[in-house]
Amino acid sequence: MTFDSMMPRDPFADDPNDPASFLSDEERPEPLSDQERRSIEADLERLAFFAQILSPRGIRGIVFYCEDCEDFHFYDWEILATNMRAMLAGELSPVHEPGAEPIPEQYVTWDYALGYADGYRRV
Ligand SMILES: [Zn+2]
Repeated sequence: MTFDSMMPRDPFADDPNDPASFLSDEERPEPLSDQERRSIEADLERLAFFAQILSPRGIRGIVFYCEDCEDFHFYDWEILATNMRAMLAGELSPVHEPGAEPIPEQYVTWDYALGYADGYRRV
């Protein structure tokens, strides 16, 4: 059974002026699976720990390489947490929103933060 077949019949199904047809698929986030939800929740917890141990070292957030923009995106801890909470709430997160003139040296990759947190726990 598909997700669609469980939905009530769309009252605009046969209407060529269906207002929903103006929304592209990209604008409608997929509902999260339980696994995705748990994974985001786990990332949120990691994020809080990263911020706690890296902020004192002058690190403000995470840098991601974005394949859509073919460029790097810089996210402050708080912005990233807000994005993740938006995803959990089923809202779109503004992933391509640029920060205000980020200083690249103040951001680390997610993998770096993971490795750093690992080392930190062992000390
Ligand atoms: Zn992008």
